[in-house]
Amino acid sequence: MSPPVRVSFFGGLGEIGRNMASIEVDGRLAIVDVGLIFPDAEHHGIDLILPDWSLLRQRRADLHCVVITHGHEDHMGALPFFLREFPSVPIYATRLTLGLIRAKLEEYPEIKPDLREVDAGERLTTGPFDIEFVGVTHSIPDGLAVAFHTPHGTILHSGDFKLDQTPIDDKPTDLPHFSQLGDDGVALLLADSTNADTPGHVPTERMIGKTLREVFAAARERIVVTTFASHIHRVQQVIDAAIDSERLVCFVGRSMLRNMPIARDLGYLGYDDSQVIDLAEVERLPRDRTVIVCTGSQGEPYAALSLMAAGQHRQVSLEPGDTVIMASSVIPGNEHAIYRSINGLFRQGADVVYKGIADVHVSGHAAADELRYFHNIVRPSAFVPLHGEYRHMVAHARIAEETGTPHDQVFVCEDGDTIVLTDGVVHRGDRFEPGVVFVDGLGVGDVGNAVLRDRRQLSSEGICVAVVTLDQHSRLVGTPEVVQQGIIYEPEQSILLEQAAKALAEELRLIGDQGDLAVVRGDTVRALGRFWREATGRRPVILPVLVEV
Ligand SMILES: [Zn+2]
Ligand SMILES: [Zn+2]
Repeated sequence: MSPPVRVSFFGGLGEIGRNMASIEVDGRLAIVDVGLIFPDAEHHGIDLILPDWSLLRQRRADLHCVVITHGHEDHMGALPFFLREFPSVPIYATRLTLGLIRAKLEEYPEIKPDLREVDAGERLTTGPFDIEFVGVTHSIPDGLAVAFHTPHGTILHSGDFKLDQTPIDDKPTDLPHFSQLGDDGVALLLADSTNADTPGHVPTERMIGKTLREVFAAARERIVVTTFASHIHRVQQVIDAAIDSERLVCFVGRSMLRNMPIARDLGYLGYDDSQVIDLAEVERLPRDRTVIVCTGSQGEPYAALSLMAAGQHRQVSLEPGDTVIMASSVIPGNEHAIYRSINGLFRQGADVVYKGIADVHVSGHAAADELRYFHNIVRPSAFVPLHGEYRHMVAHARIAEETGTPHDQVFVCEDGDTIVLTDGVVHRGDRFEPGVVFVDGLGVGDVGNAVLRDRRQLSSEGICVAVVTLDQHSRLVGTPEVVQQGIIYEPEQSILLEQAAKALAEELRLIGDQGDLAVVRGDTVRALGRFWREATGRRPVILPVLVEV
């Protein structure tokens, strides 16, 4: 009898981002997705957040392969960091996903990845793994669900999916394939929960094309459309609407310019060179003959649309009568930045069309009714909701129970949880403590929660530095020098700083010559902390600098 099969969750449970799980069969590990999440305002200065895969360092020799379900950052964005540690592990993904991975890795020429193309409908065996790939629709083409046929039962991982019945590429989620897997028996289903608390169905992507054509037909001047640079089908519909209204298309923004030629060369996007122009030509053409397709749908500070909204884009300016279409979602946490963009665009005189005003966006994730349908087709014995905040996962767990998975076989998990399969029976395994890994500038993992706490305090309370000169017995020499930044307004500071220095000197004279630098340091922090609290009610970071003469 082969050892139990273990599923471990490294990230993506409890938040939407940095998805990563491992499936262990016969002591070998297959990883599904290696994603990242972008920081929010609480993460002062952090650039990216990765899953913590430190456990895998001790299991380097057991690492067998990586499967990437699709080309979104929350599923493949951490690969450059992962491959630096595990450079030779083979990566399986579809053609478009591999194209986007290749483009991402171009910035890291030292990484020579072992990329292996697979296609929806394919089944392959590698080592102890028997893996089957199922095509799904999502907000990027060429997405996969992945079934692992293990000695203890089949595990089905849905990837990100919805059930669009009329997708732009005419490749709907492969329901017959899922049904077949369900007939053969799925011991454990792991599935996308993003929209589990949204009732009903997600409308088809094709609906957007109709809205785009209407808005384009009514537009009299320049049109600017923003969407995600990975949403190839959305861009295709913009191109089609542009051709219909006799306009030429111009891609603006780094990721648009990078992804669209890749998608076209691989056959996922159709346009003719004569239909696409570069930015220099836009200015030479009449305003009603062009459509700019640009990045910045989430209000990212330096993205093309944000610069246009602020009137700071070097080549594109908006004028009254122009139309801007935000063909994208509002990702929770980005509301403020997005509405700042929309306000800025209106200020430039443009007419802004966004979700809520017109049907210019549909989600890429199955809503509650689609999930019910999916569960009824797959009929899993056990279920773990993936890819969601806790509330989404709870909503998805309820759907699983409604559709027949027994209550004690539905496991709402968090990062660090494991699930074990033995002979078709599923139960919880031991937990491990998962960390988060912050990327800041060139550093990976050298900024932890303690540093973030300091940054938060620095940003909200300011800093006070005290230079304390000591003799060889650690006695104070002269008066300490106290400076501050971010605590008080300049004209007020000289008197307060003098008082602070005096209070500190008194305190240090009180302790006399204890000959201990740690005591002096601790006392300096305490005395100045008390001083600022009493004088201003603030709690700045206190940094003592001890100088011995
Ligand atoms: Zn996705
Ligand atoms: Zn995702």
